[in-house]
Amino acid sequence: MAVRTGQDFLEGLRDGRDLWLEGEKVTDVTTHPKLTGAAHGMAGWYDYVLEHADECIIEDPVDGGPMNAAHMLPRSAADLDVRHRALERMARYHVGMMGRSPDYVNVSFAGFAALAHLWALDGNEAGAANLVEFQREVARRDLSLTHVIVHPTIDKSVPDTEAGGGEVALHKVADTENGIIVRGARVLATLAPFADEITVYPGQPIPKGADAYALAFSIPMNTPGLKFICRDSYSSSMPAVDRPFSSRFDEQDAFVVFDDVEVPSHRVFLDGSSHVYNMVMARGWVANIMQQTSIRAMVKFQFAYEMLNRMVTVLNGANPTTNQLLGEVWTYHQLVKSAVRAAEADSRDWGEGAWLCDDAPFVALRPTVPGWMVRTNEIIRQLGSHNLLAVASSGEMADPELRPYIDRYLTGAGDHDATERMRVFRTAWDFAGTGLAGRTELYERFYLASAPRMYQVAHFTAQRDHEWKLFDEFQEQIAPF
Ligand SMILES: Cc1cc2nc3c(=O)[nH]c(=O)nc-3n(C[C@H](O)[C@H](O)[C@H](O)COP(=O)(O)OP(=O)(O)OC[C@H]3O[C@@H](n4cnc5c(N)ncnc54)[C@H](O)[C@@H]3O)c2cc1C
Repeated sequence: MAVRTGQDFLEGLRDGRDLWLEGEKVTDVTTHPKLTGAAHGMAGWYDYVLEHADECIIEDPVDGGPMNAAHMLPRSAADLDVRHRALERMARYHVGMMGRSPDYVNVSFAGFAALAHLWALDGNEAGAANLVEFQREVARRDLSLTHVIVHPTIDKSVPDTEAGGGEVALHKVADTENGIIVRGARVLATLAPFADEITVYPGQPIPKGADAYALAFSIPMNTPGLKFICRDSYSSSMPAVDRPFSSRFDEQDAFVVFDDVEVPSHRVFLDGSSHVYNMVMARGWVANIMQQTSIRAMVKFQFAYEMLNRMVTVLNGANPTTNQLLGEVWTYHQLVKSAVRAAEADSRDWGEGAWLCDDAPFVALRPTVPGWMVRTNEIIRQLGSHNLLAVASSGEMADPELRPYIDRYLTGAGDHDATERMRVFRTAWDFAGTGLAGRTELYERFYLASAPRMYQVAHFTAQRDHEWKLFDEFQEQIAPF
């Protein structure tokens, strides 16, 4: 089995994982009232991939079977084109509202496997081989993965690895006959209820010598000692027409506790090299993963632009101000699309045949797009105003007593009827106003690290990759004084 159906996916989630939601231990994430909607929404994603097999499924270069293109190790510009088409199609299912559909971590691991020689440095050949073997398994079994790369924040005045006496951040405490024991916590496993395995890999750099914290591995979600504490649910039990996103795409985020968890040796990718830990994310990760994230953002801006256009036309509200605001959102869409094209056009071999995008356009997008996402939501709320709330539900539309009032008083301009008005403004509110919308906005702000940090990285990258001469050249034209 190399490409799973939605039903296969759901069956994999019934594994006795130790997962908590709003004070309750969840016994089955596929049937729990606050998780079932997203479990089935995710299952729908797997089925959608199969429905669009011509775009999303490729031939596995190892065994010749069908494989989701997100597992591809790109070896050429043509491979990146194929992956682009697949990632764009996969994002269209949730119109960019799910940050962590399985293609995200799967693309990340495909990049790690393609650049395995970096993981093999500092005597970590066995860890790198485990990683390559794991990535093959993920592709073969078409797994859904969550990931945790960030340490909990409890005291910002010291490095995360030192806060709480060094006991809070995830670290190794012992070797065993079969592997290693790890203890501590990490944030914030998006998709945890809907993942088959949890992966741990590097995030922000750790202090040199903090080797006990230099870990990377993957383990099944039901591994003994693993505890997942989910944030409050923002899912809705209303029909999809009322809550198109909250009813299906509350992907969840969970705080993760590792209470002396044994990681088997064959699943350890890194154990004890702060040098490798601090290096692997700085070489090629952005070039690889941001093809996925930027294509998702591009789809989301396109959807937002089209939705805004419908909001304006339903109420016949076109005027210079609305045109300006719509133009602004279209601009964000075009800028992201252009940056992806530029990154793909300048793709190159990043070592050992790993063919990845140019990272410079992505380094520029990384701190900038979060602001555009927040601004787009603001525009949706600004243009939508009370219409986002003065909107009937499908239950009210179906009520014979209420329906005549709705058709008369809650309709749109001209030929735009009450049903259209309802669909447009309910979609807009769930995109930019509901609890899930607020959480998704926070996700957009932080999922690739905070913007202030990333502007600093942008400056360092610019200094690393380019010799800046224009200022001096210009000065040379001017006579000395
Ligand atoms: C909805 C959501 C889902 C997430 N999912 C995951 C996940 O699946 N896996 C995972 O590993 N992590 C996940 N995260 C965590 C995410 O990776 C972190 O939030 C992110 O890396 C930012 O780190 P931080 O929250 O510690 O914020 P910080 O980096 O501390 O930033 C917070 C603020 O502090 C200021 N600041 C911090 N550092 C600097 C600096 N150097 N210079 C200037 N200002 C600074 C800025 O104002 C910044 O906005 C998720 C977060 C959210 C909100």
